[in-house]
Amino acid sequence: MSSNAEIASRGAAVLVGNYAPQPIALVRGEGCWLYDAEDNRFLDLMGGIATAALGHANPKLRRALEDQAAKLWHVSNLYTTEPQIQLAERLTANSFADAIYFCNSGAEANEAALKLARRHHHDRGAKSGKERFEIIAFEGAFHGRSLFTLSATGTPAYWKGFEPLVPGIHHAPWGDLDAVRQLLSKKTAAIIVEPIQGEGGIRTPPPSFLAGLRSLADENGCLLIFDEVQVGMGRTGTLFAHEQEGVTPDVMTLAKALGGGIPIGAMCTTRELAAALVPGTHASTFGGNPLACAVASAVVDELIEGGVLDHAKSMGERLGQGLDAIAAELGSEKVVETRGRGLLRGLRLAMPPGGIIDACRERGVLVISAGADVLRLAPPLVISTEEVDYGLAVLREVLLEAD
Ligand code: PLP
Repeated sequence: MSSNAEIASRGAAVLVGNYAPQPIALVRGEGCWLYDAEDNRFLDLMGGIATAALGHANPKLRRALEDQAAKLWHVSNLYTTEPQIQLAERLTANSFADAIYFCNSGAEANEAALKLARRHHHDRGAKSGKERFEIIAFEGAFHGRSLFTLSATGTPAYWKGFEPLVPGIHHAPWGDLDAVRQLLSKKTAAIIVEPIQGEGGIRTPPPSFLAGLRSLADENGCLLIFDEVQVGMGRTGTLFAHEQEGVTPDVMTLAKALGGGIPIGAMCTTRELAAALVPGTHASTFGGNPLACAVASAVVDELIEGGVLDHAKSMGERLGQGLDAIAAELGSEKVVETRGRGLLRGLRLAMPPGGIIDACRERGVLVISAGADVLRLAPPLVISTEEVDYGLAVLREVLLEAD
Protein backbone atom coordinates (compact mmCIF):
# COMPACT_ATOMS: atom_id res chain seq x y z
CA MET A 1 0.00 0.00 0.00
CA SER A 2 1.40 3.43 -0.95
CA SER A 3 1.66 6.14 1.70
CA ASN A 4 0.12 9.59 1.40
CA ALA A 5 3.60 11.05 0.84
CA GLU A 6 4.48 8.56 -1.90
CA ILE A 7 1.28 9.29 -3.83
CA ALA A 8 1.77 13.04 -3.39
CA SER A 9 5.32 12.91 -4.73
CA ARG A 10 4.19 10.90 -7.78
CA GLY A 11 1.54 13.59 -8.37
CA ALA A 12 4.09 16.41 -8.08
CA ALA A 13 6.17 14.69 -10.77
CA VAL A 14 3.43 14.45 -13.39
CA LEU A 15 0.69 17.00 -12.66
CA VAL A 16 0.61 20.69 -13.55
CA GLY A 17 1.34 22.53 -10.33
CA ASN A 18 -1.71 24.81 -10.36
CA TYR A 19 -3.07 23.29 -7.14
CA ALA A 20 -1.51 23.04 -3.70
CA PRO A 21 -3.14 19.86 -2.36
CA GLN A 22 -3.23 19.09 1.35
CA PRO A 23 -0.78 16.34 2.39
CA ILE A 24 -3.25 13.46 2.29
CA ALA A 25 -4.29 11.25 -0.64
CA LEU A 26 -7.97 10.38 -0.31
CA VAL A 27 -8.86 6.93 -1.55
CA ARG A 28 -12.44 6.22 -0.52
CA GLY A 29 -15.46 7.68 1.18
CA GLU A 30 -18.68 6.67 2.82
CA GLY A 31 -21.38 9.14 3.81
CA CYS A 32 -19.66 12.10 5.46
CA TRP A 33 -16.40 10.24 6.07
CA LEU A 34 -13.28 10.07 3.93
CA TYR A 35 -10.30 7.72 4.22
CA ASP A 36 -6.74 8.42 3.13
CA ALA A 37 -4.11 6.09 1.72
CA GLU A 38 -3.00 5.19 5.26
CA ASP A 39 -6.58 4.44 6.30
CA ASN A 40 -6.90 7.55 8.48
CA ARG A 41 -10.52 8.66 8.73
CA PHE A 42 -11.75 12.25 8.30
CA LEU A 43 -15.12 13.90 8.85
CA ASP A 44 -15.81 15.78 5.62
CA LEU A 45 -17.04 19.29 6.41
CA MET A 46 -16.20 20.63 2.95
CA GLY A 47 -18.03 18.18 0.67
CA GLY A 48 -15.65 18.44 -2.27
CA ILE A 49 -16.18 22.24 -2.16
CA ALA A 50 -19.97 22.20 -1.69
CA THR A 51 -20.39 19.41 -4.24
CA ALA A 52 -20.74 15.96 -2.63
CA ALA A 53 -24.21 16.95 -1.43
CA LEU A 54 -25.43 13.43 -0.72
CA GLY A 55 -22.18 12.27 0.82
CA HIS A 56 -19.68 9.80 -0.59
CA ALA A 57 -20.62 6.52 -2.29
CA ASN A 58 -24.32 7.25 -1.75
CA PRO A 59 -26.14 3.98 -2.58
CA LYS A 60 -28.96 5.70 -4.52
CA LEU A 61 -26.54 7.70 -6.66
CA ARG A 62 -24.40 4.62 -7.22
CA ARG A 63 -27.45 2.70 -8.40
CA ALA A 64 -28.42 5.51 -10.78
CA LEU A 65 -24.89 5.59 -12.19
CA GLU A 66 -24.57 1.82 -12.49
CA ASP A 67 -28.01 1.40 -14.11
CA GLN A 68 -27.18 4.08 -16.68
CA ALA A 69 -23.63 2.74 -17.18
CA ALA A 70 -25.12 -0.57 -18.26
CA LYS A 71 -27.25 1.16 -20.92
CA LEU A 72 -25.64 4.16 -22.63
CA TRP A 73 -22.69 6.42 -21.84
CA HIS A 74 -22.34 8.98 -24.56
CA VAL A 75 -23.73 9.76 -27.99
CA SER A 76 -23.47 13.61 -28.14
CA ASN A 77 -26.26 16.11 -28.65
CA LEU A 78 -26.67 15.07 -32.25
CA TYR A 79 -29.17 12.57 -30.80
CA THR A 80 -31.87 12.76 -28.16
CA THR A 81 -31.20 10.94 -24.89
CA GLU A 82 -33.86 10.59 -22.23
CA PRO A 83 -31.80 11.05 -19.01
CA GLN A 84 -31.11 14.62 -20.13
CA ILE A 85 -34.80 15.28 -20.69
CA GLN A 86 -35.75 13.71 -17.35
CA LEU A 87 -33.32 15.98 -15.52
CA ALA A 88 -34.55 19.06 -17.38
CA GLU A 89 -38.13 18.10 -16.50
CA ARG A 90 -37.18 17.93 -12.82
CA LEU A 91 -35.35 21.27 -12.90
CA THR A 92 -38.13 23.08 -14.73
CA ALA A 93 -40.81 21.55 -12.47
CA ASN A 94 -38.99 22.91 -9.41
CA SER A 95 -37.80 26.34 -10.54
CA PHE A 96 -38.84 29.47 -12.45
CA ALA A 97 -37.05 28.10 -15.52
CA ASP A 98 -38.66 26.37 -18.45
CA ALA A 99 -35.60 25.80 -20.62
CA ILE A 100 -32.30 24.16 -19.60
CA TYR A 101 -28.90 23.99 -21.28
CA PHE A 102 -26.53 21.34 -19.90
CA CYS A 103 -22.76 21.53 -19.69
CA ASN A 104 -20.04 20.17 -17.44
CA SER A 105 -19.02 22.76 -14.85
CA GLY A 106 -19.88 26.02 -13.14
CA ALA A 107 -17.62 28.02 -15.44
CA GLU A 108 -19.34 26.56 -18.49
CA ALA A 109 -22.80 27.26 -17.07
CA ASN A 110 -21.85 30.89 -16.45
CA GLU A 111 -20.14 31.14 -19.83
CA ALA A 112 -23.40 30.00 -21.42
CA ALA A 113 -25.42 32.49 -19.34
CA LEU A 114 -23.17 35.42 -20.28
CA LYS A 115 -23.16 34.41 -23.94
CA LEU A 116 -26.95 34.04 -23.86
CA ALA A 117 -27.24 37.60 -22.49
CA ARG A 118 -25.09 39.01 -25.28
CA ARG A 119 -26.76 36.96 -27.97
CA HIS A 120 -30.26 37.82 -26.74
CA HIS A 121 -29.52 41.55 -26.96
CA HIS A 122 -27.61 41.11 -30.20
CA ASP A 123 -30.67 39.58 -31.84
CA ARG A 124 -32.95 42.32 -30.49
CA GLY A 125 -30.37 45.05 -31.25
CA ALA A 126 -30.19 43.89 -34.84
CA LYS A 127 -33.79 45.09 -35.08
CA SER A 128 -33.47 48.25 -32.94
CA GLY A 129 -29.91 49.24 -33.90
CA LYS A 130 -28.82 49.23 -30.23
CA GLU A 131 -25.70 47.48 -28.98
CA ARG A 132 -25.85 45.83 -25.55
CA PHE A 133 -22.84 43.78 -24.59
CA GLU A 134 -21.69 45.02 -21.18
CA ILE A 135 -21.86 42.90 -18.04
CA ILE A 136 -22.05 44.15 -14.47
CA ALA A 137 -20.54 41.84 -11.85
CA PHE A 138 -19.32 42.35 -8.28
CA GLU A 139 -16.07 42.77 -6.45
CA GLY A 140 -15.27 39.52 -4.65
CA ALA A 141 -17.45 37.49 -7.03
CA PHE A 142 -16.31 34.13 -8.36
CA HIS A 143 -17.81 32.86 -11.60
CA GLY A 144 -15.16 30.49 -13.00
CA ARG A 145 -11.83 30.33 -14.80
CA SER A 146 -12.73 30.45 -18.50
CA LEU A 147 -11.77 33.84 -19.91
CA PHE A 148 -15.31 35.30 -19.93
CA THR A 149 -16.14 34.02 -16.45
CA LEU A 150 -12.68 34.96 -15.13
CA SER A 151 -13.30 38.47 -16.47
CA ALA A 152 -16.58 38.55 -14.53
CA THR A 153 -14.83 37.21 -11.42
CA GLY A 154 -14.15 40.14 -9.10
CA THR A 155 -10.74 39.21 -7.69
CA PRO A 156 -7.99 40.96 -9.70
CA ALA A 157 -5.31 38.55 -8.40
CA TYR A 158 -6.93 35.81 -10.53
CA TRP A 159 -6.65 37.96 -13.68
CA LYS A 160 -2.89 38.44 -13.38
CA GLY A 161 -1.06 37.38 -16.50
CA PHE A 162 -4.24 36.48 -18.39
CA GLU A 163 -5.11 39.95 -19.61
CA PRO A 164 -6.48 41.34 -21.84
CA LEU A 165 -9.77 40.26 -20.28
CA VAL A 166 -13.07 40.10 -22.14
CA PRO A 167 -14.05 43.74 -22.68
CA GLY A 168 -17.20 45.42 -21.38
CA ILE A 169 -17.26 43.96 -17.85
CA HIS A 170 -17.64 46.28 -14.83
CA HIS A 171 -17.43 45.41 -11.14
CA ALA A 172 -19.51 47.13 -8.49
CA PRO A 173 -18.72 46.92 -4.77
CA TRP A 174 -20.68 44.06 -3.15
CA GLY A 175 -24.08 45.18 -1.94
CA ASP A 176 -23.87 48.67 -3.47
CA LEU A 177 -27.02 49.36 -5.48
CA ASP A 178 -26.04 52.98 -6.17
CA ALA A 179 -22.80 51.82 -7.79
CA VAL A 180 -24.78 49.40 -9.97
CA ARG A 181 -27.17 52.19 -10.94
CA GLN A 182 -24.23 54.27 -12.10
CA LEU A 183 -22.70 51.45 -14.12
CA LEU A 184 -25.96 50.58 -15.89
CA SER A 185 -26.46 52.02 -19.35
CA LYS A 186 -28.16 51.22 -22.62
CA LYS A 187 -25.09 49.06 -23.30
CA THR A 188 -25.72 46.71 -20.36
CA ALA A 189 -26.62 43.16 -21.36
CA ALA A 190 -26.78 41.59 -17.88
CA ILE A 191 -26.04 41.78 -14.19
CA ILE A 192 -24.47 38.58 -12.82
CA VAL A 193 -24.50 37.93 -9.09
CA GLU A 194 -24.11 35.12 -6.56
CA PRO A 195 -27.05 35.21 -4.12
CA ILE A 196 -24.38 34.63 -1.45
CA GLN A 197 -20.75 35.15 -2.42
CA GLY A 198 -19.00 31.82 -1.85
CA GLU A 199 -15.32 31.97 -2.79
CA GLY A 200 -15.31 35.67 -1.89
CA GLY A 201 -15.79 34.81 1.80
CA ILE A 202 -19.38 33.55 2.37
CA ARG A 203 -20.76 37.06 2.09
CA THR A 204 -24.56 37.27 2.36
CA PRO A 205 -26.12 40.26 0.59
CA PRO A 206 -27.54 43.22 2.49
CA PRO A 207 -31.34 43.08 2.93
CA SER A 208 -33.25 43.79 -0.32
CA PHE A 209 -30.05 43.85 -2.38
CA LEU A 210 -31.17 41.12 -4.77
CA ALA A 211 -34.65 42.67 -5.01
CA GLY A 212 -32.97 46.00 -5.78
CA LEU A 213 -30.94 44.39 -8.56
CA ARG A 214 -34.14 42.88 -9.98
CA SER A 215 -35.76 46.34 -10.11
CA LEU A 216 -32.67 47.94 -11.65
CA ALA A 217 -32.42 45.21 -14.30
CA ASP A 218 -36.11 45.61 -15.15
CA GLU A 219 -35.87 49.40 -15.40
CA ASN A 220 -32.80 49.11 -17.59
CA GLY A 221 -33.98 46.22 -19.76
CA CYS A 222 -30.97 44.00 -19.05
CA LEU A 223 -30.99 40.41 -17.78
CA LEU A 224 -30.43 39.33 -14.18
CA ILE A 225 -28.29 36.19 -13.82
CA PHE A 226 -28.05 34.37 -10.49
CA ASP A 227 -24.96 32.22 -10.18
CA GLU A 228 -26.21 29.44 -7.87
CA VAL A 229 -23.28 27.15 -8.64
CA GLN A 230 -22.21 27.06 -4.98
CA VAL A 231 -25.41 28.05 -3.16
CA GLY A 232 -27.97 26.11 -5.20
CA MET A 233 -29.29 22.56 -4.74
CA GLY A 234 -30.27 22.83 -1.09
CA ARG A 235 -27.01 24.25 0.22
CA THR A 236 -28.65 27.20 2.01
CA GLY A 237 -31.82 25.40 3.17
CA THR A 238 -34.03 25.88 0.10
CA LEU A 239 -33.57 24.21 -3.26
CA PHE A 240 -32.27 27.52 -4.66
CA ALA A 241 -30.89 30.32 -2.51
CA HIS A 242 -32.84 33.03 -4.33
CA GLU A 243 -36.14 31.52 -3.15
CA GLN A 244 -35.41 32.95 0.31
CA GLU A 245 -35.20 36.47 -1.13
CA GLY A 246 -38.44 36.23 -3.09
CA VAL A 247 -36.60 37.36 -6.22
CA THR A 248 -36.65 35.52 -9.55
CA PRO A 249 -33.76 35.84 -12.01
CA ASP A 250 -33.90 35.61 -15.80
CA VAL A 251 -31.12 33.04 -15.81
CA MET A 252 -29.79 30.74 -13.07
CA THR A 253 -26.64 28.67 -13.26
CA LEU A 254 -26.02 25.42 -11.40
CA ALA A 255 -23.14 22.92 -11.14
CA LYS A 256 -21.29 21.50 -8.10
CA ALA A 257 -24.01 19.76 -6.01
CA LEU A 258 -26.27 19.22 -9.04
CA GLY A 259 -24.31 16.06 -9.85
CA GLY A 260 -23.44 15.15 -6.26
CA GLY A 261 -19.83 14.68 -7.42
CA ILE A 262 -20.32 13.81 -11.09
CA PRO A 263 -19.31 16.74 -13.34
CA ILE A 264 -22.37 18.56 -14.67
CA GLY A 265 -23.50 22.16 -15.07
CA ALA A 266 -26.79 23.70 -16.12
CA MET A 267 -27.97 27.06 -17.35
CA CYS A 268 -31.64 27.47 -16.49
CA THR A 269 -33.72 30.19 -18.15
CA THR A 270 -37.06 31.04 -19.73
CA ARG A 271 -38.22 29.75 -23.07
CA GLU A 272 -38.38 33.33 -24.35
CA LEU A 273 -34.72 34.06 -23.57
CA ALA A 274 -33.58 30.59 -24.62
CA ALA A 275 -34.82 31.43 -28.11
CA ALA A 276 -31.54 33.30 -28.67
CA LEU A 277 -29.57 30.05 -28.69
CA VAL A 278 -30.64 28.55 -31.99
CA PRO A 279 -28.77 25.56 -33.46
CA GLY A 280 -25.14 26.39 -34.07
CA THR A 281 -24.85 29.21 -31.52
CA HIS A 282 -23.54 27.29 -28.52
CA ALA A 283 -22.71 23.67 -27.69
CA SER A 284 -20.79 21.18 -25.58
CA THR A 285 -19.82 17.65 -26.59
CA PHE A 286 -20.36 16.24 -23.11
CA GLY A 287 -23.24 18.55 -22.13
CA GLY A 288 -26.24 16.50 -21.01
CA ASN A 289 -24.19 13.31 -20.90
CA PRO A 290 -26.49 10.39 -19.91
CA LEU A 291 -24.34 9.23 -16.99
CA ALA A 292 -24.16 12.71 -15.44
CA CYS A 293 -27.85 13.41 -16.02
CA ALA A 294 -28.99 10.10 -14.54
CA VAL A 295 -27.03 10.81 -11.36
CA ALA A 296 -28.22 14.43 -11.19
CA SER A 297 -31.86 13.31 -11.50
CA ALA A 298 -31.28 11.02 -8.52
CA VAL A 299 -29.78 13.99 -6.63
CA VAL A 300 -32.87 16.11 -7.30
CA ASP A 301 -35.16 13.24 -6.26
CA GLU A 302 -33.28 12.70 -3.03
CA LEU A 303 -33.36 16.40 -2.18
CA ILE A 304 -37.06 16.83 -2.81
CA GLU A 305 -38.73 13.46 -2.33
CA GLY A 306 -36.08 11.85 -0.15
CA GLY A 307 -36.37 14.56 2.50
CA VAL A 308 -32.73 15.70 2.24
CA LEU A 309 -33.75 19.34 1.74
CA ASP A 310 -35.66 19.43 5.04
CA HIS A 311 -32.86 17.59 6.79
CA ALA A 312 -30.27 20.04 5.41
CA LYS A 313 -32.33 22.95 6.66
CA SER A 314 -32.38 21.71 10.24
CA MET A 315 -28.71 20.65 10.16
CA GLY A 316 -27.86 24.10 8.77
CA GLU A 317 -29.58 25.74 11.72
CA ARG A 318 -27.76 23.48 14.16
CA LEU A 319 -24.39 24.20 12.54
CA GLY A 320 -25.10 27.95 12.48
CA GLN A 321 -26.09 27.99 16.16
CA GLY A 322 -23.01 25.95 17.10
CA LEU A 323 -20.71 28.34 15.24
CA ASP A 324 -22.40 31.34 16.84
CA ALA A 325 -21.81 29.76 20.25
CA ILE A 326 -18.12 29.19 19.45
CA ALA A 327 -17.78 32.79 18.26
CA ALA A 328 -19.49 34.11 21.41
CA GLU A 329 -17.28 31.97 23.66
CA LEU A 330 -13.97 32.77 21.96
CA GLY A 331 -14.62 36.44 21.26
CA SER A 332 -13.40 38.68 18.46
CA GLU A 333 -9.75 38.03 19.28
CA LYS A 334 -10.23 34.74 17.49
CA VAL A 335 -13.54 34.78 15.62
CA VAL A 336 -14.42 38.15 14.14
CA GLU A 337 -17.77 37.14 12.65
CA THR A 338 -19.94 34.16 11.70
CA ARG A 339 -21.37 34.12 8.19
CA GLY A 340 -23.58 32.13 5.88
CA ARG A 341 -26.85 30.28 5.70
CA GLY A 342 -27.92 26.66 5.85
CA LEU A 343 -25.00 24.31 5.33
CA LEU A 344 -22.76 26.98 3.80
CA ARG A 345 -21.09 28.63 6.76
CA GLY A 346 -18.06 30.79 7.35
CA LEU A 347 -16.08 31.94 10.35
CA ARG A 348 -14.16 35.11 9.72
CA LEU A 349 -11.05 34.58 11.78
CA ALA A 350 -8.66 37.01 13.36
CA MET A 351 -5.81 34.72 12.21
CA PRO A 352 -4.98 33.20 8.82
CA PRO A 353 -7.26 30.15 8.32
CA GLY A 354 -4.40 27.94 7.01
CA GLY A 355 -3.16 26.90 10.47
CA ILE A 356 -6.70 26.10 11.64
CA ILE A 357 -7.37 23.99 8.52
CA ASP A 358 -4.15 22.00 9.16
CA ALA A 359 -4.93 21.51 12.85
CA CYS A 360 -8.49 20.35 12.08
CA ARG A 361 -7.18 17.88 9.51
CA GLU A 362 -4.63 16.53 11.97
CA ARG A 363 -7.59 15.84 14.29
CA GLY A 364 -9.61 14.19 11.53
CA VAL A 365 -11.88 17.00 10.31
CA LEU A 366 -11.67 18.54 6.83
CA VAL A 367 -12.52 22.24 6.41
CA ILE A 368 -11.43 24.79 3.81
CA SER A 369 -11.08 28.55 3.44
CA ALA A 370 -12.98 31.17 1.45
CA GLY A 371 -11.33 34.48 0.63
CA ALA A 372 -8.32 35.55 2.69
CA ASP A 373 -9.62 35.21 6.24
CA VAL A 374 -12.70 32.99 6.29
CA LEU A 375 -12.88 29.35 7.37
CA ARG A 376 -15.54 27.65 5.25
CA LEU A 377 -17.80 24.73 6.11
CA ALA A 378 -19.88 23.14 3.37
CA PRO A 379 -20.52 19.55 4.47
CA PRO A 380 -22.64 16.99 2.65
CA LEU A 381 -26.33 17.86 3.14
CA VAL A 382 -26.87 14.40 4.64
CA ILE A 383 -24.66 15.16 7.65
CA SER A 384 -26.14 13.85 10.91
CA THR A 385 -26.71 15.66 14.21
CA GLU A 386 -23.86 13.69 15.80
CA GLU A 387 -21.52 14.54 12.95
CA VAL A 388 -22.37 18.26 13.15
CA ASP A 389 -21.72 18.21 16.90
CA TYR A 390 -18.49 16.25 16.53
CA GLY A 391 -17.20 18.67 13.87
CA LEU A 392 -18.11 21.66 16.04
CA ALA A 393 -16.37 20.13 19.06
CA VAL A 394 -13.12 19.58 17.13
CA LEU A 395 -13.26 23.06 15.61
CA ARG A 396 -13.84 24.62 19.03
CA GLU A 397 -10.86 22.76 20.53
CA VAL A 398 -8.61 23.76 17.65
CA LEU A 399 -9.64 27.41 17.90
CA LEU A 400 -9.28 27.39 21.69
CA GLU A 401 -5.70 26.19 21.34
CA ALA A 402 -4.81 28.51 18.45
CA ASP A 403 -2.55 31.49 19.16
N1 PLP B 1 -19.57 30.04 -9.71
C1 PLP B 1 -19.44 29.91 -8.39
C2 PLP B 1 -20.32 30.70 -7.49
C3 PLP B 1 -18.48 29.05 -7.84
O1 PLP B 1 -18.34 28.94 -6.52
C4 PLP B 1 -17.65 28.33 -8.73
C5 PLP B 1 -16.60 27.45 -8.22
O2 PLP B 1 -16.19 27.51 -7.09
C6 PLP B 1 -17.83 28.50 -10.11
C7 PLP B 1 -18.80 29.35 -10.56
C8 PLP B 1 -16.97 27.74 -11.08
O3 PLP B 1 -17.34 26.40 -11.08
P1 PLP B 1 -16.37 25.30 -11.74
O4 PLP B 1 -15.16 25.21 -10.87
O5 PLP B 1 -17.22 24.06 -11.74
O6 PLP B 1 -16.06 25.77 -13.11
